[in-house]
Amino acid sequence: MHIPDGDQSAADPRRLVPRTDVALADPLLASAIDRLGSAEVKQAVVLMQQLVREGRLPPEQLVATVLEQLPDSTGSMRPVVNATGVVLHTNLGRASLSQAAIDAVVAAAGYVDVEYDLSDGRRARRGRGALTALARAVPAAGDVLVVNNGAAALVLATTALAAGREVLVSRGELVEIGDGFRLPELIESTGARIREVGTTNRTKLADYADALGPDTGCVLKVHPSNFRVEGFTSSVPIAELAALNVPVLADVGSGLLHADPLLPDEPDVAGALDDGAWLVTCSGDKLFGGPQAGLIFGTADAVNGLRRHPLARALRVDKLTLAAVEATLRGPSTPTERYLHADPQRLRSRCSALAAEVGGDVVASAGAVGGGGAPGLELAGWAVALPAGYAHRLRAGNPPVIGRVEHGRCLLDLRCVDEAADRTLAEAVRAASL
Ligand SMILES: *Cc1c(COP(=O)(O)O)cnc(C)c1O
Repeated sequence: MHIPDGDQSAADPRRLVPRTDVALADPLLASAIDRLGSAEVKQAVVLMQQLVREGRLPPEQLVATVLEQLPDSTGSMRPVVNATGVVLHTNLGRASLSQAAIDAVVAAAGYVDVEYDLSDGRRARRGRGALTALARAVPAAGDVLVVNNGAAALVLATTALAAGREVLVSRGELVEIGDGFRLPELIESTGARIREVGTTNRTKLADYADALGPDTGCVLKVHPSNFRVEGFTSSVPIAELAALNVPVLADVGSGLLHADPLLPDEPDVAGALDDGAWLVTCSGDKLFGGPQAGLIFGTADAVNGLRRHPLARALRVDKLTLAAVEATLRGPSTPTERYLHADPQRLRSRCSALAAEVGGDVVASAGAVGGGGAPGLELAGWAVALPAGYAHRLRAGNPPVIGRVEHGRCLLDLRCVDEAADRTLAEAVRAASL
């Protein structure tokens, strides 16, 4: 039986499904296509066409629904409000970049003179701006180098100093950094052999001296950054190790360039060099407050040896990292520094203002350095305490807010929230209370 087209149209929704090319040409979708690309938008159109076909979506609402369904950006990582009070929260990306560093990353995104001399049109030293800024920040260093992260810095240094030979390490410093990352395994992966000296709680200079021999590549001094040993303990300071006349490699971990009275137990790069370390390694995204990177400082000879090692090329950082490292140093104080040193009175009055607006109690709150740094150190601050049920509703909000659940309550600690974001936070809490 033949049914004329005209008779079918009203009954069959398939005839009403807007064509893909017509939908994609709709001016309402133009900016989404610019932002996300046509493939992503087309996929959303095809999904919505299916709903129209099934009679679950009126055809005239197709374009508007596609727009609603599309994400704001192509990146799946979402900026969050860190209300945990933990400054270097590893799961939240460790250090938050300064505005200066963010601007520098954006500026370096296209073509840049990262390895090019604009005056003579020839190749120039890669990342020289970042290296100069680092050298200036730590005058005790004869030279500096930037690699992919703290682990890479350690791999490069142990490979260059001790591959096929021995690395002397105190038993009290054979640490696991986090997420199953064990320092001894990392070092052995370079082909160096670990020679353990001393005991878990006590290691003396004589323990190192007894282990020294023709096979010694270097002595490694690791800052046990994420735990504390108390009681009957001793370890050998870098200054004494330096007297052994073998290369001393110091992994200070957190990237504090100079001593900070707020963090009395954190070793700093300048101090380790002054004490005679040949090479000092640390992370860029911990207390240094910059991007993920491994910063290496040392004598000119030692750093040059690393720079020329073939492995250095495999651990090289990109222009975005170099731009961020330089701007972190040259720009105003980093968010990490500001959050660490936040004035408790100011935190308290901001908490009072927030509680007055959204409810909850103002309570004392101990912030932390995080990222495995300064274990046991409590940063005195304040928080707004809300019922625990807020925690998941705040995480589901836009922007997601991450609080700290403690004693059955959801604490919003303002230490790592910029004052300019207090309004956003208040609105997020109000939205979560509905
Ligand atoms: C964090 C840390 C590392 C690892 O640095 P990444 O930048 O995370 O690779 C190595 N050693 C110590 C002592 C650390 O604290």
